[in-house]
Amino acid sequence: KLVEGESLRKKLHNTILELKGNIRVFCRVRPILFDDAAENEPKTVSFPTTTENIGRGIELLQNGQKHSFMFDKVFVPESSQEEVFVEVSQLVQSALDGYKVCIFAYGQTGSGKTHTMMGTPGNFDDKGLIPRSLEQIFESRQMLQNQGWKYEMQVSMLEIYNETIRDLLTTNRHGSTESGTKQYAIKHDANGNTYVSDLTIVDVRSSREVSFLLNRAAQSRSVGKTQMNEQSSRSHFVFTLRITGINESTEQQVQGILNLIDLAGSERLSKSGSTGDRLKETQAINKSLSSLSDVIFSLAKKEEHVPFRNSKLTYLLQPCLGGDSKTLMVVNVSPAPSSINESLCSLRFAARVNACEIGTPRRQTAVKQLDARFSYG
Ligand code: ADP
Ligand code: MG
Repeated sequence: KLVEGESLRKKLHNTILELKGNIRVFCRVRPILFDDAAENEPKTVSFPTTTENIGRGIELLQNGQKHSFMFDKVFVPESSQEEVFVEVSQLVQSALDGYKVCIFAYGQTGSGKTHTMMGTPGNFDDKGLIPRSLEQIFESRQMLQNQGWKYEMQVSMLEIYNETIRDLLTTNRHGSTESGTKQYAIKHDANGNTYVSDLTIVDVRSSREVSFLLNRAAQSRSVGKTQMNEQSSRSHFVFTLRITGINESTEQQVQGILNLIDLAGSERLSKSGSTGDRLKETQAINKSLSSLSDVIFSLAKKEEHVPFRNSKLTYLLQPCLGGDSKTLMVVNVSPAPSSINESLCSLRFAARVNACEIGTPRRQTAVKQLDARFSYG
């Protein structure tokens, strides 16, 4: 009886998952900033509301032409960090249940990716997804202890720049490029998980310990920034929390992973204009962002061959992108009229990721609605 109940619950859970799909796409529009100097210009971004798409629609006006999109959720410029977190807290929580989770921030430089992920250091109300997620996880850990659960947590932080991995927690500030001794190669272990050789992994017991490490990583990133020409907006930042839980009374075990990723700026730098290192950099970013969407697209279509190996980012995250893992893409957009072309590119990227789950009933409706109501992209 018990076994039956258990398998029924699992079945139900999987059905719900299938109905909802494992991929979510949110869109967040930041406020107009002083630098945008757009006070007197007509609005280019609006949020149409009909009964079906309440809180989910966004419209861009480019040269008099309307482009409408629909996502799982659209956050308006007034949306607070708290409001954004409320929508992702369940996803974060599922890492404690043993799920592998990826949350990406996508968008052009200046669109609010780092604000969404990290927030403003020192400003309590402004904390982003990463600090809020960690606080929730460590609070929950405390509560789950009463039910016999014992958790161990490990953190690593890295940056992928020009298809090269840099350890952000190494005490050797020069990292791999200068010392030449560390490899930082992506490897698969016996369980099909990936790891990076020589990467620093730190055991953590509180969210304060993680904050300390985040500061260290930020410092390490800014060192690179002056050395390597604004590197931080040209590289992917990958924060990984590995969670191992054992229930001492039931001997149940779970292994969850939470990846929080601040992607490189998605702006198209013209290839004709850039040469040398800049060109190589541009190509590396374009390649890894497009292979990310290729991978999500082919996973959703349940294709036999998923091109994980086409970039370091997707190869590293391979075990956390397929199967019953969960992915959320937050697409950040600037409402400045001068950014309209880039914003449109970002929403089109997101729409490709979003509407790709054609196999699931909910998506079918969503895609149909998109086709019927919107000039899609
Ligand atoms: P990115 O990481 O995409 O380059 P940032 O997160 O650094 O962009 O954001 C660019 C600027 O806009 C920063 O000054 C940031 O504080 C501000 N900003 C971004 N999003 C918001 C928001 N939702 N509310 C207020 N300010 C924001
Ligand atoms: Mg940033």
